[in-house]
Amino acid sequence: MSELSAALVAWQTVQGRNNLPWQNSSDPYKVWLSEIMLQQTQVSTVLGYYERFLTRFPTVQALAAAKDEEVMSLWAGLGYYARARNLLACARRVVNDHNGCFPDTVEGLMALPGIGRSTAGAVLSLASDIAQPIMDGNVRRVFARYFGIHGFPGLPVIEKQFWSLAQAHLPDKTTVRAYNQGLMDLGATLCTRSKPLCMHCPLSGQCEALKQGTVSELPTPKPPMVRKHEHYRVVLHTSSEGVWLAPRTGRGVWSGLWMAPMEKLAEPLEGQCLVHELTHRRYCLYPVLQSVAAELPDSAEGGRWFALPLADDAPVPACLPRLLALSGA
Ligand code: SF4
Repeated sequence: MSELSAALVAWQTVQGRNNLPWQNSSDPYKVWLSEIMLQQTQVSTVLGYYERFLTRFPTVQALAAAKDEEVMSLWAGLGYYARARNLLACARRVVNDHNGCFPDTVEGLMALPGIGRSTAGAVLSLASDIAQPIMDGNVRRVFARYFGIHGFPGLPVIEKQFWSLAQAHLPDKTTVRAYNQGLMDLGATLCTRSKPLCMHCPLSGQCEALKQGTVSELPTPKPPMVRKHEHYRVVLHTSSEGVWLAPRTGRGVWSGLWMAPMEKLAEPLEGQCLVHELTHRRYCLYPVLQSVAAELPDSAEGGRWFALPLADDAPVPACLPRLLALSGA
């Protein structure tokens, strides 16, 4: 057993959480139910829901036979309702395809609705002492700090590193339950997101983040979204008729709205630009005013003249009046 697993198992046995209603059960149904409820939800919130569910549906067969509305109403308030729909679908698959018995392999469990790799590992290890790792937010935080791993845990390369460490430090079946439970308990009670209680931690002697003074930096937060910059020349043809606009087609931004002709630029231009920010993009729009004779054909590219100033309810992008103002039109 590695130093990490030995310390965790010893600590969990004495100081971990050992009296939660779904613990110390060899019934995969109970462990699975609790694991699904605990996703993105605090233990204190889950307790009441778990008891009510188990009283009403004491077995997977009882749950599989339930009406959808009853399950959804018992779930009401727990949030993330896709979990409840998957819960029911999963119970029905276990009863119909597996004779009421949960599969005893990671692959078999992961083939069921709503069960990912970590939930599969939890069901196998916590109910049946099968040595399989788990990986939830608490475990990621403990690993990032203990091993001093920098990099956002949502990145596949970091996630892969966490899984291989969880596998490498996995003890045998005699202590896997305490090891996995210990990781979750440590992350929930001592190695917390803010103000971790390192002085009480059984791992403090080998914790890389503690040695390097990087506890508060880890796990690495999600990097801010990098917006792609795009530059456009916006040609504002104006005449005594107003400004010439054409409807935007396709699925892009402003689709269905009327806009002045735009030309994508390889480089930014000199001069004033109007910045328009979207979730993934930052448009720099350079207005170019071109006075033309009013004969510009109405039919060109399906466009037409819009009188200036634009009416409040004109079907144009919100930035167009500002572009016109910027251009001096
Ligand atoms: S020593 Fe502190 S940072 Fe390191 S694992 Fe323990 S609680 Fe977390």
